[in-house]
Amino acid sequence: MASNFKLALHWKILIGLVLGIVVGLAINTMWDTNTWNSMGVDNPSAWVEGTAIEGVNEHPSFIAHATLFIRHLNSFIGDLFMRGLRFIAVPIVIFSLIVGASSLNDLSKLSRIGGKTIGIYLVTTAVAISVGLLFANIVKPGNFVSEETRDGFVAQFGDQASAKIAKATAPDVWDTVLNIIPKNPFNAIAQGNMLQVVFASLLVGIALTLIKREKAKVVIEFFDAMTDVIIKVVEIVLMIAPYAVFALIVDQIAELGLDILASLAVYCMVVVGGLLTMMFVVYPIGFKLLAGLSYSRFFKAISPAQLLAFSSASSSATLPVTMECCEQRLGIKEEVSAFVLPIGATINMDGTALYQGVAAVFIAQLYGIDLSVMDQLTIVLTATLASIGTAGVPGVGMIMLVIVLESVGIPLEGIAVILGVDRILDMCRTSCNVTGDAMVCAVVAASEGAIETPEQVATRLSRPMDEDPVDQGRLDE
Ligand code: ASP
Repeated sequence: MASNFKLALHWKILIGLVLGIVVGLAINTMWDTNTWNSMGVDNPSAWVEGTAIEGVNEHPSFIAHATLFIRHLNSFIGDLFMRGLRFIAVPIVIFSLIVGASSLNDLSKLSRIGGKTIGIYLVTTAVAISVGLLFANIVKPGNFVSEETRDGFVAQFGDQASAKIAKATAPDVWDTVLNIIPKNPFNAIAQGNMLQVVFASLLVGIALTLIKREKAKVVIEFFDAMTDVIIKVVEIVLMIAPYAVFALIVDQIAELGLDILASLAVYCMVVVGGLLTMMFVVYPIGFKLLAGLSYSRFFKAISPAQLLAFSSASSSATLPVTMECCEQRLGIKEEVSAFVLPIGATINMDGTALYQGVAAVFIAQLYGIDLSVMDQLTIVLTATLASIGTAGVPGVGMIMLVIVLESVGIPLEGIAVILGVDRILDMCRTSCNVTGDAMVCAVVAASEGAIETPEQVATRLSRPMDEDPVDQGRLDE
């Protein structure tokens, strides 16, 4: 139903986010065991998990039941949204990449775009780590944490850290390259292995340009229509985005609180400061100077993707929205975005790389280890590789950090110290990851003449058939 006052989606998401943080903090600081006890629940964790026997050892009041219901509902909305996004991620890559690659029509164009994409991705990642290392070396966050605090964290989180360390395996370059080629494309789709899906779709797209036109036409038209269908699905899923963002954030903040942040405040500030520098100083060099986009045009267009990346901490799950923002709101042609963004969501993790650089220096400082220039260069190299190997899902950046630490002999138990704040930093670095992908996409598109002018975007959005699926064309709100 159309109403007179419609708020643009990114504002709604932002409101959800801020409210989520406020409510989460309130729960974290004011809600404790006594609150549950006063509602007739003696053993809150068993009650919440559903293992307490009601009537025998619990006498929950109506309010306790209602609270539990709201909690379940909250998690349900968050999970529903994340499932929706995951549901879309694989099909949108397949459909749009096949159409995108087949529309390029000649292999030289494809390899040119591919070369630029990978080249710029590598450069931005190396810049990100260097920014992180620079900040960490100047501020020296490790010097702000006492030995007792460090040892306390190691005692508290040591076991969890060991579990993460056990998961990390250094990627072998040959295997990594070979693994891009799926043994069975359907298996790759079922497993959601993005790099393999990208490869298979690209191959089909290229093959379509090599067969008879009239035969290819049928297939391309089918996938083109399917792309429109899946974009509609994105639109439907996005309807619950503001509520879901609230739900996801409340859960996280209620659990984490800010106490732990305080003891590692300087470290967190260095990571966040580095990420902000990337987003608001380094990336504008790309999208302003190389792609000719203004600050407001770029950020207004991609803010829904940034906010969703923040709340989901997953660049893969955010991919459909990033594509939507780049294509519909920035006016980047699908032939470029369908190629650049899925690859970016899989291999380009500037925020993760920056975080890994800072974390390595921070842990080294905690243990009084001096890192030589050679060590720092090794960190740049391994963090670039580690970030490429990081899957776009929550928390993997920290697992890959193990490889960076090992490369220069920094004690792995240091991971226990930063584990408690990882989720918050994961949210921040994922936002940076997604922004970096969109920036590179804009640069590549501009170099190919595949980006609309603001007027063209406005005209397209004002046509009823082509209304902006993200926020019904209300770009200026
Ligand atoms: N969560 C990050 C992403 O999806 C990866 C990481 O750094 O853990 O982009």
